[in-house]
Amino acid sequence: QEKYDKGLEKTRKTFGERMNELFANFRTVDEDFFEELEETLIGADVGFDTAIRISESLRQEVKLRNAKKPAEVQNAIIEKLVNLYEEEGMDEVNELAIQPDGLTVMLFVGVNGVGKTTSIGKLAHQLKQEGKKIMLAAADTFRAGAIDQLVVWGERAGVEVVRGNAGGDPAAVVFDAMRRAKEEQVDVLLIDTAGRLQNKVNLMNELEKIQRIIQREEPTAPHEVLLVLDATTGQNAMVQAKQFKETTNVTGLVLSKLDGTAKGGIVLAIRNELHLPVKLVGLGEGIDDLEPFNPNEFVIGLFK
Ligand code: GDP
Repeated sequence: QEKYDKGLEKTRKTFGERMNELFANFRTVDEDFFEELEETLIGADVGFDTAIRISESLRQEVKLRNAKKPAEVQNAIIEKLVNLYEEEGMDEVNELAIQPDGLTVMLFVGVNGVGKTTSIGKLAHQLKQEGKKIMLAAADTFRAGAIDQLVVWGERAGVEVVRGNAGGDPAAVVFDAMRRAKEEQVDVLLIDTAGRLQNKVNLMNELEKIQRIIQREEPTAPHEVLLVLDATTGQNAMVQAKQFKETTNVTGLVLSKLDGTAKGGIVLAIRNELHLPVKLVGLGEGIDDLEPFNPNEFVIGLFK
């Protein structure tokens, strides 16, 4: 929780403090108050739609309670930020789909530089600490650097890395990794993939091919297709999420670099507008800086 709070420091400074001020400074809930509220929400990158929805539903709340002072509805707004998802009748499953028995396969997708390799390294370390046997697969064969980087993370976490040659066929690496993971009774296999969004069709075809190979070896897999997004890119992350969601069966999001942005509200925007559960958040560059996402703690953390 401490790490969580620290990682949210920047967002809290801009968004949380401004929200707290808003509630402290306005004597009445009037039109000016709602305008300022919408501005604050949009400024924190919760997204236009989400900002308007929250503001609208707060207006109803004010009417319902016949509230005069902002303080009377301050808790309501926290609830709304947390529960927007539920209002739509969506069940939010934040936990990773780790299989109780047998091999769990997680495919990591996302464009270059978003923090894919780092997130895989951190998760490998965490799962290993839980006593699980972990294997990594370097299926981003397009950049030699990407393979080396995953190997470094494998060493850091103390887990095996299956790799091919740079420029080789990523599908071959995945095939090899699936076979070895089964032979060696690995609990969780984490697969790194290439992220060249400039060649969208190729990238998507390749992801499909990788998924077919995984499925051939293990029909229930992949158990997670995790899209990694860089929180510091704000609305750009939203665009990437939309593109991947259209073409890949993304099961959840990893939002990296939340510590490096004051616009942590993007978490809420993505979750509310795309209905993709945020499963993990990156809160720093270190091996321990990855946390499960909990909407309640996240929102409450913002107002501390
Ligand atoms: P990839 O190309 O998607 O595999 O991205 P990398 O894993 O190589 O990460 C790109 C850069 O982002 C590296 O310098 C990482 O240290 C940094 N990074 C990744 N996750 C986080 C995070 O949660 N917080 C911070 N501050 N930096 C991060």
